[in-house]
Amino acid sequence: MSMLTTPLAEEMAALIASEGPLSLDRFMALALGHPRYGYYMTRDPFGAAGDFITAPEISQIFGELLGLALAVTWQNMGAPEDVAVVELGPGRGTLMGDALRAARAIPAFAETLAVHFVETSPVLMRAQAARLAQDSRDAQWHMTIDTLPDDRPLLILANEFFDALPVRQFQRVGNSWHERLVGLDPAGGLAIGLAEVPAGNIPFAGPEGAIFETSPLSLDIMRRLAEKLARQGGAMIAIDYGHTKSGFGDTLQAVKAHRFVPVLTDPGEVDITAHVDFAMLAIAAQRGGAVAHPLLTQASLLERLGIHHRAEILKRKAEKPGEIDRAVIRLAGTDDAAMGLLFKAMAITAPGMAPPPGFEQPDPRLS
Ligand code: SAH
Repeated sequence: MSMLTTPLAEEMAALIASEGPLSLDRFMALALGHPRYGYYMTRDPFGAAGDFITAPEISQIFGELLGLALAVTWQNMGAPEDVAVVELGPGRGTLMGDALRAARAIPAFAETLAVHFVETSPVLMRAQAARLAQDSRDAQWHMTIDTLPDDRPLLILANEFFDALPVRQFQRVGNSWHERLVGLDPAGGLAIGLAEVPAGNIPFAGPEGAIFETSPLSLDIMRRLAEKLARQGGAMIAIDYGHTKSGFGDTLQAVKAHRFVPVLTDPGEVDITAHVDFAMLAIAAQRGGAVAHPLLTQASLLERLGIHHRAEILKRKAEKPGEIDRAVIRLAGTDDAAMGLLFKAMAITAPGMAPPPGFEQPDPRLS
């Protein structure tokens, strides 16, 4: 029996046989984004019946609090007449739907904003359009950030976007780093091996066997969005699971039906993500000329934005108030099963701006 369990695995094996091993970022980009077989290109993976669940799908409160945070940020910017509200990787469009509903509390903002989505999956684009149509709203879609507006301030949201962007990995052997590549094992299955030729451009050492992981695409997107924010004005709030300090280690993981599975099995049929290195993202934002405000845990951001207050209001009208309590614990709880501490929130702004609600100015003594 073949070790190649999916059509995409067969295509990858053929590619490796003709061109040589694939870098992990190429593997991940194909597994998630191959036009015919890519994981996000063919399905809606969210929810109890899908492979995983994200914060906006757990409770409407998540998107509502972020929508209000953007509205206040807009007011603090002097209420510019033309503003683009941008979401990177909007999934089912749930976050934006909830954010726009909450933004109606500040009608001038709700009326003036135009929605822009950056999304590569045709299936999810359709879901996003359907979600906004429920509230008679429209959006413009972009395959990459290159075509986003260049003449007005941007207010950008990204939830679990950066963790889906491809990573490369390098392993320390003796005095050099060798890239980890996906090749073929003797039986013809996909297997991870090391490049023979060392990578020449990594300017630091590490202990024997250490794995250095980096997401060049994430850093590039962050730097270029920071350049746009610095030039056009505006802010970004990015929320993701990840670490505050850069360190060594392999964080690549695959999930199917709410369970971890091996990363190389069933490419195209499983979700693949990596932890977000927020320290590196902050440096990329600063290189682009924007300000990176100190990272918060998702728990503290949601608490500062009033998750408990909003939950009490919703519970008064709810048939099952216990469900709202459980959702709040999942989003903002601090034990291992909850998202509150694992997920972090980062705000990036144009220089000279007040940080979005909940966030603080960086300590000037630390920069
Ligand atoms: N923000 C949503 C979805 C997170 S899943 C939520 O919280 O529920 C990741 C999203 O990013 C999906 O919409 C996926 O299609 C999109 N995506 C993945 N890689 C992308 C890329 N390179 N460019 C644009 N969107 C991408």
